[in-house]
Amino acid sequence: MFGLIGHLTSLAHAKRVADKLGYSEYAESDLEFWCMAPPQVVDEITVTSITGQKIYGQYVESCFLPEMLAGGRVKAACRKVLNAMALAQRRGLNITALGGFSSIIFETFRLDSLRRVRNIDLEIQRFTTGNTHTAYIICQQLQLAAQRYAMDLAAATVAVVGATGDIGSAICQWLVAHTHLGKLLLIARERRRLEELQAKLKQGEICSLEEALPRADFIVWVASMSQGMALDPQVLPDPCVIIDGGYPKNIASSLQRKGLYVIDGGMVEHSLDIEWNIMQFLNVANPARQLFACFAESMLLEFEGLYTNFSWGRNLITLEKLDLIGQLSRKHGFRPLMPEA
Ligand code: NDP
Repeated sequence: MFGLIGHLTSLAHAKRVADKLGYSEYAESDLEFWCMAPPQVVDEITVTSITGQKIYGQYVESCFLPEMLAGGRVKAACRKVLNAMALAQRRGLNITALGGFSSIIFETFRLDSLRRVRNIDLEIQRFTTGNTHTAYIICQQLQLAAQRYAMDLAAATVAVVGATGDIGSAICQWLVAHTHLGKLLLIARERRRLEELQAKLKQGEICSLEEALPRADFIVWVASMSQGMALDPQVLPDPCVIIDGGYPKNIASSLQRKGLYVIDGGMVEHSLDIEWNIMQFLNVANPARQLFACFAESMLLEFEGLYTNFSWGRNLITLEKLDLIGQLSRKHGFRPLMPEA
């Protein structure tokens, strides 16, 4: 059995979902209550591969909310992730994806050193961040977008916001290895890590977001921001493709302008309906088939019996792993989500 550890995008979102699921105490309570709330298994899942194989899983709601980090409630945020992992392990889930901020919290606050949760010693090989599949899918979305909108990657400028992150650095690596980009712009806040990435890639220009926006034909957003930012579409070139892979989304509002194409980054579509309820609360057009690529990674590992922390640590994703997860993704009937043509 596989597991998915998820969280909602804000307190307001969490209250709406709790209300719909019948958790009235959660629906009526403030952030303080959510800081104390234990994780819950809220969904049972059945997935069928296009090979005919069927697997079963569970969705664990960690009760983490991005406001906990924004409000400095670091201990509560860490407790949410560790308790959700302990619950997944207690349930006997073989491989569980740490969705959205769960893996970011685990890495940023070095939870590796706190593996004992009450009477459970966390077995790390039971968990994956899902970041390899996410990075692979975003690269595919970028290539598909270039074809669809007839934009020549060899002449294009691609900006990666969050370039030094686990997903961002894997995307940069893949793009350098598999495409001939006109120019790659590297954006993040910490200069030292940007310089290390640039040295590793042997290319890429470090620049600020403000400098990048008017120049970038493609902008991949994979920054770990607990709240989306406002963006004025008029500063972007025409045409321009935005692939927003953040969860919560890096861009706060939906953008509309002629020649601007916005893609829901790091999302996949399955070829067959998945039996579950949880995705209907996560703002996707077709909840029976559309899901986060990180969740799909734990499904792929379960299909293959690969019970290992396939994606783990920061900046350790290799080209070989990206290729392997891509093969498994296609084999079992997942494809990158693209907007309707
Ligand atoms: P990491 O923490 O590894 O990396 C985050 C990156 O964002 C770093 O480069 C960081 O660098 C940068 N960053 C953070 N804040 C800002 C900012 N304000 N401006 C510019 N850069 C910033 O995160 P991951 O790679 O694991 O995850 C990235 C995003 O992808 C998150 O939003 C996450 O929730 C989402 N995600 C989506 C998944 C999916 O299935 N669709 C799966 C997993 C994650 P610096 O601190 O130096 O600025």
